[in-house]
Amino acid sequence: MKNFLQKSLNIGVSKNKPVSLIHFLTNQCNARCPHCFIDFDDETAQSDKLSLESINKMTKSMGPQLMNVNFTGGEPFLDTDIETICEYYLKNTSIDSMFFSTNGAMTSKIIKIANRLSKAYPKVIFTYSISIDHIGDKHSDYRRVKKLYEKAIDSYRKLIEIGKNVQANVTVTVCDFNVDDIEEIFNELYINEKVHSITANVVRNEGVYLINKDKASAINHAYKKLVDLILSNDLQYKNDNFLAKMMNEKEKVMYNYLLDNFLNPHYVLPCHAGAGLLGVIYPNGDVYPCEVLDKKMGNLNDFDFNILELWAKNQELRNWIKDTKCHCTYECAWSYNILSSPKHMGKLALKGIL
Ligand code: SF4
Ligand code: SF4
Repeated sequence: MKNFLQKSLNIGVSKNKPVSLIHFLTNQCNARCPHCFIDFDDETAQSDKLSLESINKMTKSMGPQLMNVNFTGGEPFLDTDIETICEYYLKNTSIDSMFFSTNGAMTSKIIKIANRLSKAYPKVIFTYSISIDHIGDKHSDYRRVKKLYEKAIDSYRKLIEIGKNVQANVTVTVCDFNVDDIEEIFNELYINEKVHSITANVVRNEGVYLINKDKASAINHAYKKLVDLILSNDLQYKNDNFLAKMMNEKEKVMYNYLLDNFLNPHYVLPCHAGAGLLGVIYPNGDVYPCEVLDKKMGNLNDFDFNILELWAKNQELRNWIKDTKCHCTYECAWSYNILSSPKHMGKLALKGIL
């Protein structure tokens, strides 16, 4: 791990600089999932995009403590500059891992980039999380992309062949659409498609999407079933590195918290999103603590793309999140809330080493 001391002090003690950033590269997507939170009719948002010069500048301002960036969207691989943006993060920041959330449709582009980055940066762990909601045409029709299921599976299979520093998984988001078929979906992915790394997500209220309240209980039940199947078949990340082993243990803790919170949201751990450990960058330069809380930290344009300056102006928001015991089921924040919690930190580090 680069800058081990600075990173440990930030995540364990001061908790006031970004450890992980979720970077929305674009709001555009080649799919149209009914559970998507993006408003595809908003023409301004659809054309939002930070210039390469701005992103280069921003990545140079991130400080020695940044550990991970998560590229998402929209579909991040639709961004024609994605490879250059990856290079900026890899050259200008101290990240040890890079995460891509993708629908897996653009197999050739994904594999070409994954191959090159894996060889050029052998010490960085690259994780590709491919979303699949159902099997075969049901998945493709739901997401409204022809043969998307076959393309997503093909991307997964090719990614797992690339190298030791590349890990791929299939993420199933439990929602209205698949709630009654979770076991069938799991069996098809695991037994027939031989997908050996599966992550369970659960749908949440976000943007233009609201959970159907009549289905909430069934969704929670199906999420539990999927989590049980994943854990009992040992289908977490397969790689033998510190990060993968620690992430697997963290996922187990997180699944339990989320199961307990989905129907009855309540405060469990302090949240360190916002001017703490985590933040979200949108394609127009807006920075938010997370994808849930509607309190903007600022826009990077107003800080000459210096993200730590923007961060430093948000101590009030950080206090508000702490004082109000803000809570939700946003997985990305849960990850870092668990990793930085004295209650879990020691055990997670030990699991990573052993
Ligand atoms: S693939 Fe992701 S970004 Fe695209 S429509 Fe579906 S949920 Fe939205
Ligand atoms: S608890 Fe949830 S909504 Fe509140 S700041 Fe953290 S991630 Fe955002």
